[in-house]
Amino acid sequence: MSSIAENLAVIRERINRACLRVNRDPTEVRLIAVSKTVPAERVREGIQAGLTLLGENYVQEAQEKITQLQGLGASWHFIGHLQSNKARIAADLFDLIHTVDRKSLAKELNRRAQQRGRPLDVLLQVNVGEEESKGGAATEDVVALFNYVSSLDGLAVRGLMALPPYLEDPEQVRPYFKEMRQMLERLRQGAARPEDLSELSMGMSHDFEVAIEEGATFIRVGTALFGERRK
Ligand SMILES: *Cc1c(COP(=O)(O)O)cnc(C)c1O
Repeated sequence: MSSIAENLAVIRERINRACLRVNRDPTEVRLIAVSKTVPAERVREGIQAGLTLLGENYVQEAQEKITQLQGLGASWHFIGHLQSNKARIAADLFDLIHTVDRKSLAKELNRRAQQRGRPLDVLLQVNVGEEESKGGAATEDVVALFNYVSSLDGLAVRGLMALPPYLEDPEQVRPYFKEMRQMLERLRQGAARPEDLSELSMGMSHDFEVAIEEGATFIRVGTALFGERRK
């Protein structure tokens, strides 16, 4: 098995090449290392190899790792389905919550952010493939959700996130990425401060290059960095 450092070098090269193809500055694309099920010691190795953003799917698992890896300067993002009863703790643990997909969750996160007196950055998750099995707001509900979350003083909406259908050929995912980009553009047109609404979290190990070509600013990569996950 190749080391995390080697995998990271390969991924950085792939990011650079994808950016070159569409004339983007590679510093616009930030790599989130998805560390769900990866033990803390391996995550530490990753941080030492240069990873700075970690993405976790489960609050409790993340909490343990964050505690163990304190002081290394990593920033933790939440990318999983968030239950409202975990909103309070998630608001305290994470720098960015990618998966706000309903008003009730936004309301809970806002309550906590207001209590502590520091705004929380969030993305709105969109169920762009309209899949039953996936979280995310329906595309037709995104504007209403955006208006609601924008009205909450404790939350700052930074952009959108999607987990499009898994399709073997990443080219087939391109239309979904494109749709996300267009959706963000439309929201920006109606936003009070469009410059604050600029993030697109999309693209995983098998399709991140296409996501970058379509405007991703955060890519979320697990397997290509840490290897296959143990089930
Ligand atoms: C697991 C996961 C990823 C990473 O997937 P890989 O295919 O391992 O890169 C990205 N985003 C979300 C939301 C995930 O749950």
